Amino acid sequence: MADESKTGRKKIQATDTMNRLMADYFYGLNEAAKSGRQKVAWCTSVGPAELLRAMGFAVHFPENHAALLGATRMSTDLIPAANAIGYSPDICSYLTADVGAHLTGITPLAKAYPGIEAVPRPDVLVYNTNQCRDVQDWFAWYARELNVPCIGISSPKNIGAVTDAHIDDVARQMEALIPTLEEIAGARLDMDRLRETVSLSRECTELWKRVLETATVTPAPLTFFDGTIHMGPAVVLRGTREAIDYYTVLLAELEERIAEGAGAVDGEQYRVYWDGMPVWGRLRQHSELFAGLGANVVASTYCSSWIFPAFDGNDPIRSMAKAYLELFIVRSDSYKEQYIQEMLRKFRIDGIIYHDAKTCPCNSNSRYGLPQRLETKTGIPNLVISGDLNDLRCVSDEQTKTNVEAFIELIEEGK
Ligand code: SF4
Repeated sequence: MADESKTGRKKIQATDTMNRLMADYFYGLNEAAKSGRQKVAWCTSVGPAELLRAMGFAVHFPENHAALLGATRMSTDLIPAANAIGYSPDICSYLTADVGAHLTGITPLAKAYPGIEAVPRPDVLVYNTNQCRDVQDWFAWYARELNVPCIGISSPKNIGAVTDAHIDDVARQMEALIPTLEEIAGARLDMDRLRETVSLSRECTELWKRVLETATVTPAPLTFFDGTIHMGPAVVLRGTREAIDYYTVLLAELEERIAEGAGAVDGEQYRVYWDGMPVWGRLRQHSELFAGLGANVVASTYCSSWIFPAFDGNDPIRSMAKAYLELFIVRSDSYKEQYIQEMLRKFRIDGIIYHDAKTCPCNSNSRYGLPQRLETKTGIPNLVISGDLNDLRCVSDEQTKTNVEAFIELIEEGK
């Protein structure tokens, strides 16, 4: 296996296959928008993508585009354009980066995929507020800007147990989207196609779970930083056969690594859990920082958020409602504590990093005492890193490095 860096992080060979798959996806979207052969829907990342796909829409995910803006380090320069029209530097930096990119006519897709000039123009915008209110404001801005319909689901938040009443509420809201979507698509919803799409999403989710759980083995064959890249198909292509085929290939490679005893990080000594968003513009630096200290970030809340065990092709609408309610981000702190505790046990974690992302309070779980409560319960130390997903002005590289080095020393002392 080829080394990706001097610090011993290994490249996943399936990456080339994934890159081709993602290229096909973006070219397909571009073609749909340009030719008009297929209607285009924009969807939030944990919105009802299966419904849209089953109705024949080509589906674009603005959060995926925003993450690309972050990973290519374009976002920090684009955010001020959104600030200038009244979108605060304190709100979601996915939103401000993406709106800033639109206002300035810039997209990383143009550089990565020759022939693509712009993000595909939507025929409809579909959101689910299960993750945060920002997605609704984000899509509402585009609805005004592009004069397209914006519809969605207002989800309950901070829930402990997911009850039938919650599921009824979301399922009814999902059903209420159908007439508008049918009108835009120019075709009726085919329930058999929806059943099939939800079943494909279920298969994708099961494979993605198995991919992530290969890291329960020591040494772990993949890192959180690999996961943030390889989750692409689970986000934008769930509900398709292509995503399933890809994760079958990736899983086989990781199982081969396990059989060879080859870890993703050379000489893995410490196993770390990451809670919160990645810092997209620092994936490589963070990956190398941990690997250089003999630490592997083996599991995360973020990558695991694209595991939806509730999907059931026999009951597509209600199972989608349940799946999109059971998400970590939708849940109460007591549920989150239990969930993370279970992850610590399953992945045999030595320490937890909480990324306190300045512009994403919903995905920052260090603000209401959760790290302290979990440390008291488990004895596993934690470190809170202040930063942001896309706004690098909120990131202090030196402080992060110093704090992570001290944290790994602390873990070593406690061993
Ligand atoms: S969850 Fe956070 S990063 Fe995602 S859209 Fe909402 S505020 Fe932005």
